[in-house]
Amino acid sequence: MSDRAIPDVAAIDHPTFCRICPVLCGLVVSTEGDSVVRVRGDQSHPVSRGYSCAKGRALGSFHHHPRRLDEPRLHGVPASWDETLDDLATQLARIVRESGPDAVAVYFGTWSWMDAFGRMQAEAIVRALGSRSRYSAVTVDAIARLTVAELVGGFGGLLPALDVDNAGLTVLIGTNPVVSHGHAGALVDPIEALRRVAERTGLWVIDPRRTETSRLATHHLAVRPGSDAALLAYVVRALLDEGADADYIARHVDGVDALRLAVAPWTRDLAEERTGLAGADIDVLVDAIRAERRVTIVTGTGTTMAASANVTEWLAWAIQIITGSFEHERGAWFNPGSFVRLDRTGVSAAPPEGRSVDGAPSRPELVSRFGERPCAVLADEIEAGNVRALLVIGGDPLTSLPDTGRLERAFSQLDVLAVADVVEADTVAMATHVLAVAGQLERDDVNWFTDRFSPVITAQRTEAVVPPGASRRSLVEVLGDVSDRLGLNARVDPAERMAKCIERIPGLAHADVVISDPPRVRGWVHDRVLPEGRWRIAPRVLVEQLEELRTRDSAPLVAIPRRAPRRMNSAMRDVARGGEDSALWCNPQDATGLVDGQRVTITARHGSLTAVLRITDDIVPGAISVPHGLSGQNVSRLTSANPDAVDPLTGMITQSGIPVTLTSATGGT
Ligand code: SF4
Repeated sequence: MSDRAIPDVAAIDHPTFCRICPVLCGLVVSTEGDSVVRVRGDQSHPVSRGYSCAKGRALGSFHHHPRRLDEPRLHGVPASWDETLDDLATQLARIVRESGPDAVAVYFGTWSWMDAFGRMQAEAIVRALGSRSRYSAVTVDAIARLTVAELVGGFGGLLPALDVDNAGLTVLIGTNPVVSHGHAGALVDPIEALRRVAERTGLWVIDPRRTETSRLATHHLAVRPGSDAALLAYVVRALLDEGADADYIARHVDGVDALRLAVAPWTRDLAEERTGLAGADIDVLVDAIRAERRVTIVTGTGTTMAASANVTEWLAWAIQIITGSFEHERGAWFNPGSFVRLDRTGVSAAPPEGRSVDGAPSRPELVSRFGERPCAVLADEIEAGNVRALLVIGGDPLTSLPDTGRLERAFSQLDVLAVADVVEADTVAMATHVLAVAGQLERDDVNWFTDRFSPVITAQRTEAVVPPGASRRSLVEVLGDVSDRLGLNARVDPAERMAKCIERIPGLAHADVVISDPPRVRGWVHDRVLPEGRWRIAPRVLVEQLEELRTRDSAPLVAIPRRAPRRMNSAMRDVARGGEDSALWCNPQDATGLVDGQRVTITARHGSLTAVLRITDDIVPGAISVPHGLSGQNVSRLTSANPDAVDPLTGMITQSGIPVTLTSATGGT
């Protein structure tokens, strides 16, 4: 059960792969009977080579979690699967009959990506129902990436990734991969990988906080929160003056004149003023890019959850494009995936304004992109009676979506709140139908939905390590039964799907991991994705958002998010060893009258929370670092879905850079 328990001789070792985060490390799980007695990194795994982190090694504890869901519940009472699913299907059929398919919504949390067949089954049900009420964690922390990729490159699925073996100069902005492992561009053993990058040509970290990653960097620029765009706009301007690759631009870039005009107002003085950096430090960054000529820039949730997310992401792309860095051997590469090889199939490019469809009726101004509605509209849709049933898969919206109090009230109005999960959580506690589903050690799986996040082109499959315990059933079976009861003819057969995966990648018939040869490919985005082989570097809507930034006031004190090494967002909250750092961090300059270790209240316009204060110069003045994903100390109480807190282009909720005040929880300042 413990991640460090020493198994006795009767233990059986099972190779599998971790599905907590997209690194997908190979693991060896030792079992005695149906008990997991030890989890360790798999030395023979060709990608992770024995690496694992504290979260992965805690999988045994998670599997035997004291609050593990063992059986289904109907309106808070244990019930049989037949009773639960009969009632669920009856309610869903009635709601569709009375209010149409959009009245049935689905929320896909991050972990829904990690259960390939369960997710396929859920998607099949949504399609068969014809519901447009599809929500996911993408509009919680990632939609700026997809939007910029679509507007600039014609395809929202382009994920530029750091090539740790070949990258030249590397700049990390608002990301802490030593803790997060990189996510959209997964990093195995990030400390070792980033050390290599730093030694080769230099590693820059731009972050308001001194982080585990910045300690490995050759340069750390501690900017004011929310000022990354000002810095990058100046860097673009400076490189267009000197340092850009003119030949590459002529061959592959449209819109450079518009870009030049857009960044013209962003002078070095303005960058200094907004970021709080010395001009000389900014010059060193510009000179380094000019000297190296190519650069990889990686962003993270520190930028993608900020109000300036789209512009920051765009300018990071612009720098890499004008230096000819994308798909260059010393720049970022794009993983085309293992199962659907986009480098062989290509994609049809989106029009310059991107693809979108009408928004939800309660907030039509927030359009749907990439097949989903922004999470910011979910509470409105429920309050308006447009959504009457919500199926939650692999997430805990009450600790990740904005304005928890309002969302709780909205959820209490639902006819159906069906939650498929593996442990008790805040949303599970409110569920009308609790679907106690198999955990990752209890199901066959394949990395179908996460293959494009991998550090090399890799396909993986695993068999269940142990059979589902108690009354748990796999999500694919449970939802297949719902589909049958609804007469949707949308049942997914996991054995058939696994066979199709093996048909695509025959090596999977004999091995659990197949790495493509070559493991990384370059050039396919230029050849098969970009409209006429050219980037659209100055999308009108992003140029306008950059212009708006010039007049936007910054608050004197803002909250910024912080990941924890032993949690994955709201998951794995209370199983890993070593405790949690749940403190709010603030600079001594912002702590007048407060003392280290006391309880404080952080108050935003829409709510507040109380926590222990840590006073440290590891964070710049003007920023409060708040851990996210916690239950009692729920950061979502500070966020809002009101129009002033939502990006009008993407519907993204501002979660980094929220104006706040800080006071003693016992009175006084
Ligand atoms: S890095 Fe990610 S995949 Fe690897 S063990 Fe940790 S949580 Fe699991």
